[in-house]
Amino acid sequence: MHALSRRALGWDALMGVKVLFRCECCDAQPDAVTQRTLEGQLRDRTFGEYRDAQPGGWLIWTAGGRLGSKCYACPEHREQMIEDLRRHYGAVRCGVRQDGPYPALWPDGFNGFDERELARLLGAGPRAGSRAAGV
Ligand SMILES: [Zn+2]
Repeated sequence: MHALSRRALGWDALMGVKVLFRCECCDAQPDAVTQRTLEGQLRDRTFGEYRDAQPGGWLIWTAGGRLGSKCYACPEHREQMIEDLRRHYGAVRCGVRQDGPYPALWPDGFNGFDERELARLLGAGPRAGSRAAGV
């Protein structure tokens, strides 16, 4: 009887779950790729540190324990969230006062990607194309 009820309600089927992330300050939502980065860090149990969520440039406060729950800021409100967190948790021994740059997180497949290398590659793109075209 109980098993039938569960099946009737569809509880036995695997369901995809999409976590909605919103900026603490303006309710903005991340782009699809940054969303994947944010989903990937949900199991990170780091206590009281900042992380950059790339490629969108979002900021994550990992929180934990008496530092509350994780929070997220869009690129426009990163500084505001840092100021708010420092005002609120500044007396707690943690990374709330740490200055950037913060460790960068990327979606699966881009972990460990070197941002300077990417910038160099992007910067070299047009020149390489020009040379290839014989200009
Ligand atoms: Zn925002």
